[in-house]
Amino acid sequence: MKPVRFEYRAPQTLAEAVALLAAEPDAKPIAGGQSLMPLLNFRLAAPRVLVDLRRLPGLDAITINQDGVRLGAKVRWCDIEADRRLASAQPLLWQAVRHVAHYQIRNRGTVGGSLAHADPAAELPGVAVACDGEVSVVGSDGLRTMPAAEFFTGPLETALRTGELITELRLPRWPPERRWAFREFARRQGDFALAGVALFYDEEAEGRANNVHIAVIGACSRAHRLPAVEALIAGRVVDAATIAGAAKAAAAAVDPPRDLHADADYRRALVGTLLERALHEAAQRGRA
Ligand SMILES: Cc1cc2nc3c(=O)[nH]c(=O)nc-3n(C[C@H](O)[C@H](O)[C@H](O)COP(=O)(O)OP(=O)(O)OC[C@H]3O[C@@H](n4cnc5c(N)ncnc54)[C@H](O)[C@@H]3O)c2cc1C
Repeated sequence: MKPVRFEYRAPQTLAEAVALLAAEPDAKPIAGGQSLMPLLNFRLAAPRVLVDLRRLPGLDAITINQDGVRLGAKVRWCDIEADRRLASAQPLLWQAVRHVAHYQIRNRGTVGGSLAHADPAAELPGVAVACDGEVSVVGSDGLRTMPAAEFFTGPLETALRTGELITELRLPRWPPERRWAFREFARRQGDFALAGVALFYDEEAEGRANNVHIAVIGACSRAHRLPAVEALIAGRVVDAATIAGAAKAAAAAVDPPRDLHADADYRRALVGTLLERALHEAAQRGRA
């Protein structure tokens, strides 16, 4: 199918884009088009006006400093992949992005588009939530910033208000000695994950885990953390017994959807297995 007829606008400035979106409630921004174009073609979305973000300046930078990493909304998956600084500045992100879609999609898909689309199985929301990321948005009422954990409100739902644009995602500073892992399972490389986990912890001098952060994707209605599982690991040495207990708790802590790809029990079991493997990987990374 082809999209319903729409008006196309390509503003030159952020202020112009915000004004266009404010003036037309039935307008939608388009960035890489990798999620929106299929929705338009299937006529699942039919905005009257498309506001193309491609000409907006200043939203495509990856900034790394002592505060952490800032990703402009127009940063593409391939930009993240190609930026070797991220291998140490944000390895969880760098690793997770390798699982996103296929080469052609990674060449166009953007940070802002992924956050706004809020697919429960998307990797970036999982990383953003795991890392206590913050999402900045701008609208006709000005700029506001919110924790990623509050930004994602449900499947394909966010706290974005009508007419607001995402400008950047901030991820806090990443200590070099941090233990981390990203694991997901998809039926084919590049497909959306049936389930995934993004995790990190810091190790104290006597080998006990501290500051444990675990987020789940795919087996949930939105990327979210598993506080009960984090509490089980915190203060303990991440050994086989801790990992086994955490994996069991993680499987019990999720309430996955069922669909034609997998039933809820399968996804629940996957979360346990992925967490187990991720924790082993993280602990091993510490010893390497
Ligand atoms: C076959 C296929 C497989 C895929 N597999 C994966 C996968 O494994 N993992 C994954 O994470 N993604 C996957 N994707 C989605 C892909 O990563 C998209 O690129 C991404 O979700 C959206 O980015 P985009 O820039 O293309 O956004 P667009 O498609 O342009 O827009 C998506 C939504 O975001 C809104 N939007 C865009 N930019 C902004 C902004 N700055 N502020 C506010 N709203 C904005 C749009 O209005 C729209 O609602 C897949 C897509 C396809 C087609």
